[in-house]
Amino acid sequence: MDLPTPWATPERTALQQQARAFARDVVLPIADELDPQKAQMPRELIDQLAALGWFGITVPTGHGGLGLGVFEYCLVSEELARAWLSVASILARGQGLGTQVLDAARRDELLKRSAKGEWIGSIALSEPTAGSDLAAVQTTATRDRDTWVLSGHKRWAGNALAADFVEVLARVREPEQGESRSAGLEPFLVVKEPGTFPEGMSGTAIDKVGYHGFLTWDLVLDGVRVPDGDRLTGLYAD
Ligand SMILES: Cc1cc2nc3c(=O)[nH]c(=O)nc-3n(C[C@H](O)[C@H](O)[C@H](O)COP(=O)(O)OP(=O)(O)OC[C@H]3O[C@@H](n4cnc5c(N)ncnc54)[C@H](O)[C@@H]3O)c2cc1C
Repeated sequence: MDLPTPWATPERTALQQQARAFARDVVLPIADELDPQKAQMPRELIDQLAALGWFGITVPTGHGGLGLGVFEYCLVSEELARAWLSVASILARGQGLGTQVLDAARRDELLKRSAKGEWIGSIALSEPTAGSDLAAVQTTATRDRDTWVLSGHKRWAGNALAADFVEVLARVREPEQGESRSAGLEPFLVVKEPGTFPEGMSGTAIDKVGYHGFLTWDLVLDGVRVPDGDRLTGLYAD
């Protein structure tokens, strides 16, 4: 839809028009061809999204992003999703996802890569018995000296095989009496090579009825090792 006042600004309207034209002229013809084949979006399309800066819509300009807000991110996503849901959704796997590691210099480097579409991830929150209710997550992270060992079963992890990393939500301890049920849950960064799963992780593609363009995975984690520095902290780049 067109933007009503007071949310319409010349800049937002121009961005919406740009995304609408890109979705119609570039994304839709590819979706019409590849979606019926349950195929994955071509890398060239991802590179075009990256060239437009759309993997870094919400990343600050000092870190290579467009420095815009969630409003603008939603605006672009909505237009792209009208042509192919997965193309809108792949953008959520940039925007600084998987960058909030402990070391500030590495955080900065990853954020710049994220904004450029060179650090595209997968988010593994859901499990067979934890969807809306993520406090029910059962995947465990156990400390072994300077690494964490992740074991459990994740479901619906979009883009997991093609990704540069998988962000895994895991339980480091049970909640204590009086604490929220989500106490003890932490996100971990599992770094991987695109096109392969790391040691201890195996995946089976889920046969979806729609939302093609990237594959969605059932993942089994059996002793995936993550360095302590790759816990995701919530810290942003300095
Ligand atoms: C195609 C696809 C892609 C996905 N991609 C990812 C991904 O990349 N990463 C990831 O981690 N997950 C992903 N998911 C999982 C998605 O996040 C979950 O499906 C979602 O959180 C819902 O969980 P659920 O399916 O277990 O349903 P449930 O949580 O069991 O919900 C079932 C129904 O109950 C309703 N409901 C639940 N709780 C309440 C409540 N408290 N009050 C009222 N109604 C309620 C829900 O609205 C829903 O209608 C994906 C799912 C699909 C289908």
